[in-house]
Amino acid sequence: MTRRTLLTLLFSAILAGGTLLPSCATVPETGRSQLLLISPGEEAQMGFTEFEKLKKSVPISKDPVANAALQRVGKRIAAVAPLPNARWEFVLFDKPDVPNAFCLPGGKVGVYSGILPITEDDAGLATVIGHEVAHAVARHGAERMSENMLIQLGGQLLEDAALGSSQTAQAAIQQAYGIGSTLTVALPHSRKQELEADHLGLLYMARAGYDPRAALAFWKRFSEYEKKHGGGKQIEFLSTHPLDEQRIRQIEGLLPQAEMEYRKPDAKP
Ligand SMILES: [Zn+2]
Repeated sequence: MTRRTLLTLLFSAILAGGTLLPSCATVPETGRSQLLLISPGEEAQMGFTEFEKLKKSVPISKDPVANAALQRVGKRIAAVAPLPNARWEFVLFDKPDVPNAFCLPGGKVGVYSGILPITEDDAGLATVIGHEVAHAVARHGAERMSENMLIQLGGQLLEDAALGSSQTAQAAIQQAYGIGSTLTVALPHSRKQELEADHLGLLYMARAGYDPRAALAFWKRFSEYEKKHGGGKQIEFLSTHPLDEQRIRQIEGLLPQAEMEYRKPDAKP
């Protein structure tokens, strides 16, 4: 179902006038090269469309304090994140039972209110937004879709494309971009992508003027939260963002560089 719907979506996009031009891109900062079969413009368009749908189907928070915090932090992260085609938008969805967040291509950021008790303050929120925006900058969703597409490149291709429907297309986007909690369960990013998002996100929060040490504190709070509230079942954000030694060690290792950027005397946004 997963690969099939991803493929359906991709191939429909290509049939609808897109092009199948593989491009070898390089992730900023980490320099990792990646094969992408979707152009940034096509990807951003999917993000815009999907975000409009979400805003109509998921309740939006009216909490003035929480909304102000999200706009304040979001603006500062957006100012330092290199995301071409971005039409930045930060929406707080009223879902107190869902501790999760995402950034769609095109700079459409959704935060579920259930994550706020864990982010606690602006620096905690900057950790999450920095991380999610980093997934978008590094084009992890497009990479995942491209990989799925290559895996599936075979006889089923045309038949699958012909079966496309908006419902399956929406589910595929939600899975590939980690939205979750609405139609379907988000697919975890690969470990490589998670570590990369941590790396970039840490630099973004530092450049935006938030102490990167807050990232470590955030992940520790999240682990405590899961112990208290998980009750044996995995909390979605943590099931897609497993907290392990490697994650913590990498953040600790990058802290000196991030702290230097945080302390640079130049003007922060
Ligand atoms: Zn992630």
